[in-house]
Amino acid sequence: MVVVGAGIAGVACATELARSGIPVRVRERARVTGGRLASRRFEGRPVDLGAAYFTVDDPDFAAVVQRWRAAGLAGEWTDTLVAYGPGGRAEATGPMRWAAPRGLRSLVEHLAEGLPVTHDRPVTTVEPGPRVDGGEAKAVVLAMPGPQAARLLDPALAGATRAVATQSWSPALTVVLHFPVRCWPDFRGAFVNDHPVLGLVCDDGDRRGDRAPVLVAHTTAGFAARHLNQPAAAHPAVEQAVRDLLGLPEPAVSAHVHRWTCATPAAHTGSATYHLDDDGIGLAGDAFGRPRVQTAWRSGRDLGRALAARLG
Ligand SMILES: Cc1cc2nc3c(=O)[nH]c(=O)nc-3n(C[C@H](O)[C@H](O)[C@H](O)COP(=O)(O)OP(=O)(O)OC[C@H]3O[C@@H](n4cnc5c(N)ncnc54)[C@H](O)[C@@H]3O)c2cc1C
Repeated sequence: MVVVGAGIAGVACATELARSGIPVRVRERARVTGGRLASRRFEGRPVDLGAAYFTVDDPDFAAVVQRWRAAGLAGEWTDTLVAYGPGGRAEATGPMRWAAPRGLRSLVEHLAEGLPVTHDRPVTTVEPGPRVDGGEAKAVVLAMPGPQAARLLDPALAGATRAVATQSWSPALTVVLHFPVRCWPDFRGAFVNDHPVLGLVCDDGDRRGDRAPVLVAHTTAGFAARHLNQPAAAHPAVEQAVRDLLGLPEPAVSAHVHRWTCATPAAHTGSATYHLDDDGIGLAGDAFGRPRVQTAWRSGRDLGRALAARLG
C-alpha cells in the first residue's frame, strides 16, 4: 500500500492504515514532511509559509489537536483578527485560530512519527494494476492537489483522472518580511478585502509568541498568477502594499517569496470526503470540502479507514 504525499492528508491516511495493521509506505517528493503546512527557518526561528493558522470544529480532529497541545506543539492564538476593506478597518471575530510555536510543519511531523516516510522520492507514474513507478501496490493514495495528481495518473485510470479534472485550483505567493523593529500597533492578523495585491497579512511574532518583527503576507490569486514565472520580482510590490496598509515608516530589512502554484482549491460542494475507485486509486486532500487543514486531515483519515476496510 503506497501513499504518495506527506502532507497532513497523506499522513492521516497512512496513520489509519498502520493502525489497522496494513503495511504502508509514504513517498514524499520534498526533503521534509508537511506539504502546505510549511515552515522554514530564518535566522534560527521558524516562519509559516503555507497555512497561516488552523481552526477546529470536528470532535475527532479536536482530539488530535489536544495531543499536539499536550506535546507543547499547538496553542490557541486568537479569535479576533482585523479586516481591511473599502469601508475601512474593523475587528473580525470568528472561530479560535490555532498556531504552532515551532511552525505548523511540526504538527505533521508529530503525526508522522513511526510511519515509514521516504523523502526526496517523487513518484512519476501511477498505472493500472495499480503500479507505482513500475512497482506493484495493493492500492495507491494520491494525497496532493489535483493538478499534481493528474501529472502522475495514466489516463486509463479513468475514475481518478475524472475526479482530479473536476478540481479547480488557485495560486498564491507568500512573502516573509523581516523589519528592524516592531513598528506596527498590535493587530495579530488582517484579512484584506478587495485589494489588488494582498489577501491576508499576519504578525508572525504574535502568532509564534516571540514578538519578532516579522510579517507574513499572502497575496491574492490574481496577483500571484501574474508572477508565477518570476515570484521573487513580486517582493517590492507586496512590501509596499503591506507598508501602505499598516502605515509602516521603515522598509523591511529582508524579504523571502514563496510560490504556491496550487495553493487553494475551489470549495467542493459534494458530501464525499475522498475518492476511492475499483482501480485501487484513492484521492485525499483539502479539495474534498472547505479548503482547510481540518478538511485535509479528515479526508485522509476517512480514506485510510475505507482502505483498511477494503484491504483488511
Ligand atoms: C498560502 C496558503 C495559506 C493557507 N492558509 C490556510 C489557513 O489559514 N487555514 C487553513 O486551515 N488552511 C490554510 N491553507 C490550506 C492548508 O495548508 C491545506 O488545506 C493543507 O495543508 C492541505 O494538506 P494536504 O495534505 O491535502 O496537501 P499538501 O499539504 O499540499 O500535501 C501534498 C504533498 O504531496 C507531495 N507531492 C506532490 N506531488 C508528489 C509526487 N509526485 N511524489 C511525491 N510527493 C508528492 C507534496 O510535496 C506535498 O508534501 C493554506 C494554504 C496555502 C498554500
